[in-house]
Amino acid sequence: MKQQSNVKQIARQRIQILFEQAKKVAKADPKLAAQYVLSARKIAMAAKTRLPVEFRRETCKECNAMFVQGVNCRVRIKQKREPHVVVTCLNCGNQTRIMFREKKEKRELEQDNYSNEASC
Ligand SMILES: [Zn+2]
Repeated sequence: MKQQSNVKQIARQRIQILFEQAKKVAKADPKLAAQYVLSARKIAMAAKTRLPVEFRRETCKECNAMFVQGVNCRVRIKQKREPHVVVTCLNCGNQTRIMFREKKEKRELEQDNYSNEASC
C-alpha cells in the first residue's frame, strides 16, 4: 500500500513538472507543449491518478494543446442552470465545460488561478 501511494506521489510531481514546462513553452512552441501535456496524461493514466483541476482547465483533452489565454482558447462564462466556464480550444474546436463547484478534490496546491480566467 505504501509503495502505491509513493508511485502516485511521484507521478503527481512529474505531472506538475511537465505542466510547468508546457506552460513555459506554450507560446514559443505549442507542439512541444502538447507533447508535455500528452506525457503528463500518460503518467496520470499509468499511475491511476487524476490530473490536477488546473491541468484539466488549461489543456485540451482532444488535441493536448496547452491553452494560452487569448491565443488558442476562448473562455466564456455561462450562467445556464449553474455558473460554469466553457473553454473552447481554437486548435481543434473541442469545448470543455468547467463547473465552479468542482471542488471535491483536495487542493494540493495553494495557488488559485481563477482571477484571470475570463480575460480572453
Ligand atoms: Zn484541442
